[in-house]
Formats: sequence, C-alpha cells, structure tokens
Amino acid sequence: MTDRISAIDPLPESKVPAWDLETDVIVVGFGAAGACAAIEASEQGADVTLLEVSSGSGGTSALSSSEIYMGGNGGTPAQRANGFEDTTEAMRDYLMMAGGPNADAAKVALYAEQSLAHYQWLTSQGMEFNTTFVAEKTIIHLTDDCLLFTGSEEAYPFNEAATPCPRGHKPKVEGDTGGPYLINILTEQVKKRAVDIHFDSRVRTLIRGAQRRIVGLVVREESKDRYVRARRGVVLCAGGFAMNQEMIKRYAPQFLRLGSDRAIGNPFDDGTGIRLGMGATGATTNMHEGFVSLPFYPPANFVKGILVNAQGQRFINEDCYHGRVGHFCLRQRDDTIYLVLDQDLYEKPNEYIGMTLAGTGETVAELEQELDLPEKSLQATLEVFNHHAAQGCDPLFGKNPKYIKALDQGSYAAFDCSIGKIYYPYFTLGGLDTLPTGEVLDSDQQIIPGLYAAGRNACGLPRTGAGYSSGMSIGDATFFGRQAGISAGNAVPHA
Ligand SMILES: Cc1cc2nc3c(=O)[nH]c(=O)nc-3n(C[C@H](O)[C@H](O)[C@H](O)COP(=O)(O)OP(=O)(O)OC[C@H]3O[C@@H](n4cnc5c(N)ncnc54)[C@H](O)[C@@H]3O)c2cc1C
Repeated sequence: MTDRISAIDPLPESKVPAWDLETDVIVVGFGAAGACAAIEASEQGADVTLLEVSSGSGGTSALSSSEIYMGGNGGTPAQRANGFEDTTEAMRDYLMMAGGPNADAAKVALYAEQSLAHYQWLTSQGMEFNTTFVAEKTIIHLTDDCLLFTGSEEAYPFNEAATPCPRGHKPKVEGDTGGPYLINILTEQVKKRAVDIHFDSRVRTLIRGAQRRIVGLVVREESKDRYVRARRGVVLCAGGFAMNQEMIKRYAPQFLRLGSDRAIGNPFDDGTGIRLGMGATGATTNMHEGFVSLPFYPPANFVKGILVNAQGQRFINEDCYHGRVGHFCLRQRDDTIYLVLDQDLYEKPNEYIGMTLAGTGETVAELEQELDLPEKSLQATLEVFNHHAAQGCDPLFGKNPKYIKALDQGSYAAFDCSIGKIYYPYFTLGGLDTLPTGEVLDSDQQIIPGLYAAGRNACGLPRTGAGYSSGMSIGDATFFGRQAGISAGNAVPHA
C-alpha cells in the first residue's frame, strides 16, 4: 500500500507502453491557477490538455471569496477613485515583509510591477470590479463594493515598513460569491480556446525522460491508465495539502492543535501535486507555513479590546489582520485565549465562529478570578495598557492609535477565543520551489526541465501565516498560473 506523504516517483519513459495522447502542454488541475495557465499557454499557440480529477472546474478557488491583492503602479481604478496613490515600491516593501525571512524577492518584484497589468488582464477576461471603498475593518463584506484593507498594512510593524494602502479587491458581486464568479469567468475563457478539457481524470504519476526531463504523465480515466505526452511541459496546479492530515502531521504539525475539521479547502487539497513534483526531484519550501485565522472581528469595535493568553498577558497588537492574530494565538503555550472588553465595547459577537462569554466582572479583579487567570496578571496587563491608552499609544505592541481606547468604562467581559473551542480555519502555504516563470527547482536550485507549478501546488507570494493578507492566494494563483502557462507554452518542444 502506498502512503500519502512520500514523493511519488515518476515513471521512466522507457516503461511507457504507448502514448495515448500527445499535446504541447499538460495542465494538472482546473482551479484558478490551472485555468490561467491553460489560457496563457493556449495564447502562446500551444496545444493544451487540462486534466481535472473532479467532475467540474473550481477547486478551492471556487470556494473562495476571490478577494484579490492588487495595487502599485499609481493605483488600480478603485484605489485611485478613493485617493490612494499606491506605489509599486510600497506594495513591494509590504509583500517582502509579509513574506517573512524566506520571501521570494523576484516573485514579489514581478508581482508588484505587473499588478495593475494583471488587474487589466482579469477585467479583459470579463471580471468586473466596482470602485467603492469599505473603510470599516471587516473580513469580507457582503455588498458588491470593491476595495478594503485585507492585510496588516495599517498595523505595526508593517505600517513602518511601507506606506499603508488598501489592496484587497472584491469582484462586483453581492454576497460571498466571488469564488464561483471568478471560476465561471475563467472556465468560459478556457472553453473559448483550443484547450482539451478532461474531467474525472486523476493524475497519478509523472513520466521522466532523458536528462530527468518531464515528458508527460499517467492519468487515470474511466478506470484505465492513460499515457499522455507533453512536448513542451507539464504545469502542476493541483492545490495544497490542507486535507491530507498525514502531510499536516509531518510538515505543519502545529495545525493539529486546531483539529482536522478546521482545515478548509476542497477534498483534493491532498498534496498529490506537491508529491508528484517532489518525485521529480523538485524541492519544497515553507511547508510548515499556513494561513490560520481567528476571525474575532467584525464587529470592528472588538479590535479595540485586548487579547490575552492563559497567563493574562497580551501577545499581539489586536488591529493586525485576523490571520496574523491567528498565527500568534497558535504560538501561545496554552490553548486559552480571551478577548477582553469593557462595557463600551461590548456587543454580540459574530455567531458563526462560536465565540461564547467566558466571564464577566464589575472589576478587572473579578473578571480575572472568574477566568481563573493568575492573580494580578490581568490587572497588571490592563493597568499598563490603560496607562498608555490614555495617551493614545501602545508601546508594548504598537497598536494603531485608531484602535486604541482605555478599557475603563463600567464592567468587564471576556469572550472565549480558545483554540479547540472556536472556529480557527486554516490552509497550507508551502509547496514546490519555483522561479517566477513557474519552472520547478531542485534542492540545488537547478531547473527541472519540462516541469512547472503554480498556485498552492507551489510556494508563491503568500509564504507565512504571520504576513498573510486576503487576496494574496488568488492573486498569486491567477498571476503565477499565467506566468507558468506563458513559460510552458513558449518552451522548446523536446524531441
Ligand atoms: C473558504 C475559503 C475562502 C478563501 N478566500 C480567499 C480569498 O478571498 N482570496 C484569496 O486570495 N484566497 C482565498 N482563499 C485561498 C484560495 O482559495 C486558494 O489558495 C486558491 O484558490 C488556490 O488555487 P489553486 O488554483 O492553487 O488550487 P485549486 O483552486 O484548489 O485548484 C486545484 C485543482 O486541482 C485539482 N486536482 C487535485 N489533485 C489532482 C490530480 N491528482 N489530478 C487532477 N486534478 C487534481 C483539484 O480538484 C482542483 O480543482 C480562500 C480559501 C478558502 C478555503
């Protein structure tokens, strides 16, 4: 029996009984990255075959809100309409900090430079965006408004590294329906081109020729293995591995604390594409990283409260993006996390995350006792916080003055945000190491001929939970999916 973790070794070309199908470019996976790769490879004049394991297009991309991270270059229409003259440098600086110590400078530079052109490409495919701005701090709005801050741009330390600018673009659709909207448009665009689409087709193995070149793959269709030859290249766009708990255990075990039912994505986010690339000697990077969210706001006022751990200590500036907050919650020693509010800030929380009242108190001491926190811990935390808040600052964590308020009005309440008790969704960010062109690299940083990857199958723009911002994944999947399609479509065919 094969395991669900190891590299999937390629089949030597010499063992192919006969080619069932020949094409220029094979794209594996019909989500956002695969669709964009197929469109662009076809635009280069290549014959393209698109293989998708499920019975329709979409993948995790169809489940998403399709917020897309775009800007720089003086601003997108929505940014400019709202007075944000975004610069490419500011966008690049933000993305570099968001990418953490292993940020990919080449990918960041290309993405920032071409972000406006990418916006125009998406609209040329049929996507529409309004030019309206949602100023209130929220996660996803249900109107068809467009622009919002979807990261930690205004929060410390990002606001010191780059001029803050909102870059999250929600398409012009009501409700949380951006993903289906994006996928319907991209699917129509793929269908308009000479792309041979196969559904219910599970890619099992790559095929390796001379000089370790990837020359095709084995796909299971109608209970039979078919051997498909790719003259120019194979583009892996088969998603991440959030749904493979064995891979999570090996590579990103911190997420096991959240429970397997907290992984979000489609059932085929099982890491097959990454393992196919590993078998072809592809290196992986940032496999331990993932997006994890504590969606404790809206209401926006909750951001003015403080989050404390089991020791009654703050550990983050609460105005950060909810994914950065989630990342830091997971770094606390114990699972206990409370959101502490005073009477001024108290409102009913969002029902869907399951946040319940953990305790109340006429005084901080009473609340501390009710929460079973070490004596004086919460009292000391609030004393220090309120002392500085009275002067509009937070020297400990650098919270933006916009969200600072002394917690000193009336009685106190704490909501339970503990790990294991409320909704902390997560997905993975690690994947194959690639160049901006989508070419897959081995552990010596050498290109593996004939092999490309994009989207969550690769490690692209979003690299850390600490710096994740909504829109980076769909931005990355669509943009670098296109780059991989262009590269494979223009590759010199092998003999
Ligand atoms: C609820 C939710 C909301 C999100 N909202 C946003 C958002 O607003 N903005 C944002 O930037 N990101 C968002 N994300 C993240 C984003 O959706 C994903 O990172 C992104 O869609 C990944 O795109 P992809 O093309 O790499 O993978 P996918 O869209 O998952 O496509 C991969 C495809 O490969 C197929 N496949 C897998 N294995 C095989 C195989 N062996 N053979 C053939 N086919 C195979 C799968 O069936 C799938 O169709 C969200 C994620 C979730 C879960």
